[in-house]
Amino acid sequence: MTRRGAVASEDSQWYFDALTAGRLELPRCEVCGHWARPTSASLCAECGSDAMTPVESSGKGRIVCTIVDHRAVEGERVLGLVELDEGPWIAGQILADPDGARPAQGTAVVLRIMAFDDGEPVPAFAVTRDD
Ligand SMILES: [Zn+2]
Repeated sequence: MTRRGAVASEDSQWYFDALTAGRLELPRCEVCGHWARPTSASLCAECGSDAMTPVESSGKGRIVCTIVDHRAVEGERVLGLVELDEGPWIAGQILADPDGARPAQGTAVVLRIMAFDDGEPVPAFAVTRDD
């Protein structure tokens, strides 16, 4: 079964190239250290600097909220917003806990990059066992 990944644009190609290489990179301000979401504006929201450079994220964070997607071809899947330790929130699939429980708000998660037969990889998150 072919599963389609994301489609990169000219502005997001660097982001997907990093994911392909196994890294989640986010724009970070060289002046004040503020982290931004991957596709946010090219100016720092904190200090207005345009010196935003991609820097690798720890990939660690906590669940802000989740929803269950009932339309997925592979069955139900949990989608969520994750607040990274660096600050930005990003969306991704929350990979199922072996015991089947839907992870609660505040649950610690770690990055798992999902690759596809076709298209760009996307970030997903797995529940951290030892926190
Ligand atoms: Zn800044």
